[in-house]
Amino acid sequence: MTNRYDVMVLGTGEAGIFAAYELALRCPEAKVLVVDQGADIYHRSCPIVAGKVKACINCKVCDTMCGFGGAGAFSDGKFNFTTDFGGWLTDFLSQEEVMELIDYVDSINVQHGATTQCFSTTTPQARELEKKALEFDLHLLQARCKHLGTENNLRILTNIYEHIRDNHDFRFRTAIRSITVEADGTYTLASENGDTFNAPYLIAAPGRSGAEWFANQCKGLGLELINNQVDIGVRVELPATVFEHITDVVYESKLVYRTKQYGDSVRTFCMNPYGHVVAENVEGINTVNGHSYSDPKLQSRNTNFALLVSNRFTQPFNEPYRYGKHIASLSNMLAGGVLVQRFGDLVSGIRTNEHRLAKSFVRPTLTAAVPGDLSLALPKRQLDDIIEMIYALDKLAPGTANYDTLLYGAEVKFYSARISLSNQLETALPGFFAVGDGAGVTRGLAQAGASGVKAARVVADRLTTRN
Ligand SMILES: Cc1cc2nc3c(=O)[nH]c(=O)nc-3n(C[C@H](O)[C@H](O)[C@H](O)COP(=O)(O)OP(=O)(O)OC[C@H]3O[C@@H](n4cnc5c(N)ncnc54)[C@H](O)[C@@H]3O)c2cc1C
Repeated sequence: MTNRYDVMVLGTGEAGIFAAYELALRCPEAKVLVVDQGADIYHRSCPIVAGKVKACINCKVCDTMCGFGGAGAFSDGKFNFTTDFGGWLTDFLSQEEVMELIDYVDSINVQHGATTQCFSTTTPQARELEKKALEFDLHLLQARCKHLGTENNLRILTNIYEHIRDNHDFRFRTAIRSITVEADGTYTLASENGDTFNAPYLIAAPGRSGAEWFANQCKGLGLELINNQVDIGVRVELPATVFEHITDVVYESKLVYRTKQYGDSVRTFCMNPYGHVVAENVEGINTVNGHSYSDPKLQSRNTNFALLVSNRFTQPFNEPYRYGKHIASLSNMLAGGVLVQRFGDLVSGIRTNEHRLAKSFVRPTLTAAVPGDLSLALPKRQLDDIIEMIYALDKLAPGTANYDTLLYGAEVKFYSARISLSNQLETALPGFFAVGDGAGVTRGLAQAGASGVKAARVVADRLTTRN
């Protein structure tokens, strides 16, 4: 029997959560289904974190990436108030509207326990840092940023879940297999457990973990898709003191550099002062990521950040997603998971082994990473770009190019194929909205949440006009 609703929200990551929240607020009478293949916020547990296994066992649904809170649940919640990065919502909405939506998402987080404290970009120290970076051709992208902290992020998500759980029909551990359009223009979601759900409005927020599946569904529905880029690189880990003069001022420093050798753009991404490097499973491929706690008792002595090279392909190649997965799978093949190498070993053409890693002054926070040789996994061009960037960073933060700086690989940031959307984030199919990272329109918590709110507001308006 098909379960009928007014609205269906697919995915309970940041985008789906804020869509559900806004629907509860604006049309509390509406019958809303909120569905996710992962667990609710209380039952997400990665077997590695629970100490049951040592390495990733490729669970069918990854509890680190899926469930209430989505990919961001165990992140340290760096909330960036900007349209310069973290998504492309300004391709659809005005700059003012996107900023209003971001501020609105923040205000809901604050109502549920988020800090009000921000790292400002207008301080004299931040300006001085920007100027200093420019001396070395490093371009600092500035954005007001809030650090929620991994433990607080979970608490905020739990509070939000408790706030809306009675408003909607939440179905967890329910993977959606297919999306179909009925003759009357409504949408049907068929789950792998054999349930079917139907509604005239669908807000799809499948995130990066569901991006490939979602792109296939959209292709099947005849919707136009545009391919995005793939970013490939490594995660750098070094003593926190090396970057302290930067992270104390701007916390999340996004530094962009154009390499002299190839003219490629390399950037720092996801900086985690006193953080931990973690493994991440993207559809069966182990890549690397990082996070940091705000509680000093839970912090490490290292800072980690990604160094990413952006790759855009032109005709005839149009599968950047497969390219990125292939490179990550090479380092998985060599190391059985995430690979780690000392920077000095890399530039000397030596493989890091257990013995050499044991001598390192920098202790790896991801102990499951296997020492190896990144030059066997990453293409020469990307590797040359990364090495050149490390030397450039060394001028701004001396010590970055030290022998014992650790590089974990591969870090791959997949960009979902972008669905063609209206300025209301609606696909060419009326009533079918696509939001968040899985729709290829966002790349971070702030804009993902904002996109969910926008779609929900449009749906709520239509529902209230109809009644
Ligand atoms: C380790 C890590 C750290 C991060 N740190 C930050 C940070 O500090 N700041 C920042 O701005 N961003 C950060 N990000 C990025 C941020 O988490 C994402 O931008 C954000 O989560 C995107 O939200 P979303 O709702 O679009 O997708 P997601 O959060 O990925 O949620 C999508 C949900 O859809 C569900 N789903 C997918 N397919 C199906 C299906 N077929 N059936 C049912 N359910 C399905 C998934 O289970 C998942 O729960 C981080 C990401 C990671 C992985």
